Amino acid sequence: MTSLHQKILIITAPSGAGKTSITHYLMKAFPVLTFSISAATRQPRENEKDGVDYYFIGMDDFKQKIQQKEFAEWEMVYEGKYYGTLKSELKRIWALQKVPVLDIDVKGALHIQQQYPENTLSIFVEPPSVDELKKRLEGRGTESAESLQARINKASYEISFKDQFHKSIVNANLEVACKEARDIVEAFLNS
Ligand code: 5GP
Repeated sequence: MTSLHQKILIITAPSGAGKTSITHYLMKAFPVLTFSISAATRQPRENEKDGVDYYFIGMDDFKQKIQQKEFAEWEMVYEGKYYGTLKSELKRIWALQKVPVLDIDVKGALHIQQQYPENTLSIFVEPPSVDELKKRLEGRGTESAESLQARINKASYEISFKDQFHKSIVNANLEVACKEARDIVEAFLNS
């Protein structure tokens, strides 16, 4: 029998590799998947909503939650910017009989994988090249020159971790990558 009991799906990748598009595609394809809303200390972007894209919280609040062990994982993803998965968020989604989808950075993904080894599937989305990644991030137009460079530097480092995840997908063509991800997730949900 299929059991959804406390499963976790992690989609991880360097910023700009296309993991958000793949995550949205998967959530449409499998209604049982529910986006795990992370807590973050950065400012919301223009189109982002608190409690939808992130729980946007202040630094003091974030630090207090670290001390009170409220995070399943947390990372300083960029200089001075903290992001974390709240244990309460995973529990909220499990209580709905759904499977949380975590769109998180590579280190956070490794932590979750270590902490919840039984029921977790991790997919690493790899950009075809660092040059292509740079083009995509520039095209997105949401980053300052400094933030763009930070994301590119971090990407090269993150790609070196890809073998530590259960599955990896090269996103050269979004449609192909989505189909590949769909097959992987279908098998996971039915396992
Ligand atoms: P952005 O600022 O572009 O929304 O996200 C920056 C990075 O933070 C992305 O790679 C995203 O996956 C990652 N991220 C978002 N939420 C979390 C989280 O809860 N934990 C960790 N470790 N990384 C996260």
